[in-house]
Amino acid sequence: MKKIFIITLFTCFCITVAAQKKKAVFIIIDGVSKDVLDKLPTPNIDAIVKEGALLSAFQGGERGQYNQTPTISAPGYTNVISGVWYNKHNVPDNAIKAPNYHYPTIFRFFKNQYPEKKIGIFSSWEDNRTKLVGESLAQTGKIKFDYKFDGLELDTVKFPQDKDRLFMAKIDQAVTDEAARQIKENAPDLSWVYLEYTDDMGHMFGDSKKYDDAVVSADKQIGQIWEAIKLRKKEHDEDWLIVITTDHGRDPKTGHHHGGQSDRERASWIATNASPLNTYAKKGEVSVVDILPTVARHLNISLSANQMRELDGVPLTGKVSIYKPEIIADNGKTVLKWVPADDQGKLKVWVASDNKFKESGLADTYKLLGEVPIKDGRFTLDLSKLPSSAIYKIVLEAKYNTVNRWIVNKK
Ligand SMILES: [Zn+2]
Repeated sequence: MKKIFIITLFTCFCITVAAQKKKAVFIIIDGVSKDVLDKLPTPNIDAIVKEGALLSAFQGGERGQYNQTPTISAPGYTNVISGVWYNKHNVPDNAIKAPNYHYPTIFRFFKNQYPEKKIGIFSSWEDNRTKLVGESLAQTGKIKFDYKFDGLELDTVKFPQDKDRLFMAKIDQAVTDEAARQIKENAPDLSWVYLEYTDDMGHMFGDSKKYDDAVVSADKQIGQIWEAIKLRKKEHDEDWLIVITTDHGRDPKTGHHHGGQSDRERASWIATNASPLNTYAKKGEVSVVDILPTVARHLNISLSANQMRELDGVPLTGKVSIYKPEIIADNGKTVLKWVPADDQGKLKVWVASDNKFKESGLADTYKLLGEVPIKDGRFTLDLSKLPSSAIYKIVLEAKYNTVNRWIVNKK
């Protein structure tokens, strides 16, 4: 009798745990710098943020460093979907000539582990699917979206292209309608929604009423998607993560342009219902490459040690051990620094002087340089015993997360 009771209890527990399905949606609205978001009424984003947080987050890699990334659209989206900067993903502009597919997108990480789960993309720009995610390409394992809605800008009959680009406002609305419908009806496990009209108005009118109105419209569209998610949560036992961000800000003088490294062009943000956030999200300087590991945690994606050694972000939720790795010169010595987020335990410092992962997707050969208490926050690097190399990939591996910095010796 007792045994039956225990078995019943155990079964019930399993059912309860298994029933809550994890789902995630991320939305990129194009070219909305943080100051603009802060000054305008965006009640729908506010409602999401009320459950989670609005974080200032940088785009553009680290200014002046080996991973600096142009504040241009396609590189900005790729930072988000691959969790690495331009020095790795190799998308410097909107021509998208040779993305480095050795760095998988969040969609590939997810599908590789859960081939039966569904992914969706809702976007004006077809290249997001065909080039950045690389649908059907041999290099991406011929990944396929289960739900896709894009390329409407190519349909000039249904969406005739006027010079005021009102057709793009209509396309964004059609994209939103379809994303909301699919979420309500089919609830893809992981979706990307991309809205473009804000950037069009920024380019055409700079900081202006028209640009502000476009941002307010995007907020309404986000509200429409959030309504669909709330409906799913009410009617199904699902745990939804929503993340909204932007690919770049705008130039400080006029708001017409972007691409450079000014504070305003780099000023992205992350609005999310994720809660609770960890110490890093609350205290650190977060960036858009943190979105991938955060979504990965929510969807229970396991990342291998080799993958974690390459990712440039830190999860915003759950436990983390370290963040903000830096390599500095200190009295003729090369010193590695980090911020401890956990004062217990040790971290391992690894170095590789090859770059096989970037060149061919293979694992690099890492050598252990030392093991140090996390709370020390620093470690003197002695690279003298290593072969001279154009690159040293330094990895700090701790219990809850792994971070990296590269030393790139200019030729
Ligand atoms: Zn853009």
